Amino acid sequence: MNNTSISPEDRNKKFLNKLKERDIDVQACYQCGRCSAGCPIGEFFDLNVMEVVRLATYGMEEPLLNCHTIWLCAACETCATRCPNDIEIAGLMDVLREIALRKGVTPAEPRVPLFHKAFLGSISHWGRAYEIGMIAGYKINSRDLLGDMKLGLNMFLKGKLKLTPHSIKGKSDIKQIFSGKGKEYDR
Ligand code: SF4
Ligand code: SF4
Repeated sequence: MNNTSISPEDRNKKFLNKLKERDIDVQACYQCGRCSAGCPIGEFFDLNVMEVVRLATYGMEEPLLNCHTIWLCAACETCATRCPNDIEIAGLMDVLREIALRKGVTPAEPRVPLFHKAFLGSISHWGRAYEIGMIAGYKINSRDLLGDMKLGLNMFLKGKLKLTPHSIKGKSDIKQIFSGKGKEYDR
């Protein structure tokens, strides 16, 4: 962990209320460490999982919104499954990412939200992922034009990447989901 100090004076009640609205009870954490011990990618985090929960307990939004961990978390749910107090830790990571984006905090791992944006753009437009379009959008926005070329070529040769998008039934339902309803984290 970096040298961020934890202080009850820094409590951010609004942030804690957001967690409460989502039934994420960080106050139930007794720092047993089972979440951190089970995380498959914890070695790449700057704040480990139990540190994230601890900072959330104190409502310390700023170090959480600026850390790498919230963007590297793969939402695999291992931590939540292992938690003896059923704390929805993957959900906590989601909330932190949402708040960071809504507040305009520069993501510590900028390529992650760019990938999310490309994926969601594809779903919104086609109703399902159109991989080649999605990858093109991601590569242009991230300026990572040559990364993973070999992998992409192998996938294409194995027929995993289609040149043209598929259409689906119920596209209008998908568009409704993207229409702006459920902005419960407007701040
Ligand atoms: S497993 Fe649950 S109770 Fe244990 S440290 Fe992690 S969040 Fe806290
Ligand atoms: S959900 Fe995220 S923090 Fe939890 S175990 Fe998976 S990768 Fe680690």
